[in-house]
Amino acid sequence: MATDYDAPRKSEDDNNESIEALKARRPDNAGSIDSEDADNPSSFDLPGADLSNVELDVVVLPPQEDEFTCMSCFLVKHRSQLDHDGADGPICRDCAA
Ligand SMILES: [Zn+2]
Repeated sequence: MATDYDAPRKSEDDNNESIEALKARRPDNAGSIDSEDADNPSSFDLPGADLSNVELDVVVLPPQEDEFTCMSCFLVKHRSQLDHDGADGPICRDCAA
């Protein structure tokens, strides 16, 4: 009976050692990730703000009275490039060709 009782105890000790080894590694990984996160936010904010400004500049391009936006290629073209007004909107000569 004594030997039977001892066997499972030894295996439990082995499991505890491996779990403790895994636990010991995790704090190290979390520490390295934390240090990287501290660097990222500052460098991440600047390009994000720049991109939003660029998109606003592109959107603010009102077509002039003598221009139209082709509903096929979505380019703003001069009225001289207008081929015809389709059901969905104007179509330029390049797309009608
Ligand atoms: Zn077009």
